[in-house]
Amino acid sequence: MNDVDQSLNDTVLEIEDFSVDYGWGEGAVRAVNNVTLSVRRSRVLGIAGESGSGKSTLVYAVTRLLRSPGVIAGGRARLTFDDPGSHDTKRRTVDLTSATSGELRSIRWSQVSIVLQSALNALNPVLRIGHEFDEVLKVHRPSMSKTERRERAAELLGLVGLNEDRLARFPHELSGGQRQRIMIALALALDPQLVIMDEPTTALDVVTQREIVNELAQLRVRFGFSMIFITHDLSLLVELADDIAVMYAGNVVEWAPAGDLYHAPRHPYTLGLLNSSPPLTGERRELVGIAGAPPDLSQPISGCSFRARCPYAFDRCATEVPVLGVVDDSGRKVACWLHETPATVPMPLRIVAPGRDETVPALDQEVVS
Ligand code: SF4
Repeated sequence: MNDVDQSLNDTVLEIEDFSVDYGWGEGAVRAVNNVTLSVRRSRVLGIAGESGSGKSTLVYAVTRLLRSPGVIAGGRARLTFDDPGSHDTKRRTVDLTSATSGELRSIRWSQVSIVLQSALNALNPVLRIGHEFDEVLKVHRPSMSKTERRERAAELLGLVGLNEDRLARFPHELSGGQRQRIMIALALALDPQLVIMDEPTTALDVVTQREIVNELAQLRVRFGFSMIFITHDLSLLVELADDIAVMYAGNVVEWAPAGDLYHAPRHPYTLGLLNSSPPLTGERRELVGIAGAPPDLSQPISGCSFRARCPYAFDRCATEVPVLGVVDDSGRKVACWLHETPATVPMPLRIVAPGRDETVPALDQEVVS
C-alpha cells in the first residue's frame, strides 16, 4: 500500500484509488471501491475474500480484461518493468488504465500473465497442448524456430513437473492438476515480471493444491517474478504470500504482512475467514463459518458493509463507513471502527486465533465491561 516502505523502483504494480462498476448511470453497481494496493518486485501479494468480494474483478479490470458491463469507474494502475528494448536495463512504467490496445498486447504474456481459475475452460479443447505453447511463442518470439519453440515448451513442462509427452495430448486427456500446471507453464513462457493467479487451485483436491502452491513458491524463488495470488482460502495464502489484502464487498478491509495477519487478525472479517479454514498446525478444531451472506451491492449500504455479520458491531458501525487506516508500526491497515475506539467498546467474545494454542482477547482490544 502507499504507506508501506517502498520506492516506486521496487514496485511492479501500483493500483491507486481504483474503482470498478458493473453497469452505467443510476443502475451501476460498485464492485470495487477505491482500492489502493501495490505489488513489490519478486514478492507475492495475496488477495483473499469470499465470492463477490471484488478480488477477481479488480485484477481483470487492472489488466483491462474485464468484459462489459464491467467498467473502470476511477483510479489508475501502473505497471513498471525492465524494458526489453533497452540495453541498460532501464525500467519503464505503463499506465494500464490508459494504455492503447497495441501497448496492452505487447505487455500481456511478456510482462504480465494470468492463470485463470478454470484451466479446462482456458485451454482450447480441440487443440493439443503443444499447439498452445507454439502459438504463444510464435506470436511473441517470432525469431524462434519451430525446434526451439518445441524445446522451450518441453522445458516449461519440466518446470511444473510434467513430462514433455503431454504436449501431444488434448486437455480432456489430462487431470485437473495437470491442466492447471500447464496453465502455469504457459503463464511463465515469456518470463513475465508479474504473474496473476486467480484461484488456480480452487477446483483441485487438497493434496494437489498443496503441491501446486509449493511448486509456485519454488518457481518464484528461482525466477524472481512477482505474483498476485487470489483465493478465498487464507491458510493456503499464508504459505505463499508476503503480504495479504482481505477484500469484502469491494473494499480492502485489512492489509498486513502475511504472518502478522494470520497470527493476529485485526478485522473481524479476517478473523472469520481464518476461523473458516483448518489450522496449518496444532490441534484440530471445529471450523466456524461466518454467519449470513455478503451484502447485495445493488442496494444502498449504510455504515460498515460487514455490520450485519459482525459480532463486534456497535452503534457507530450503523452510520459511518469505516476508513482504511494504519493501525500499527508494521504499516498494517484496517477498516474497522474498533481500532479508533480502544477501551470504549465492550468485547464480549474471546476467540482462539487459528494456529495459536492459547485463548487470546479477540483482536487484541482491551476488554471493558
Ligand atoms: Fe464490525 Fe463495526 Fe468493525 Fe464493521 S466497523 S467490522 S461492524 S466492528
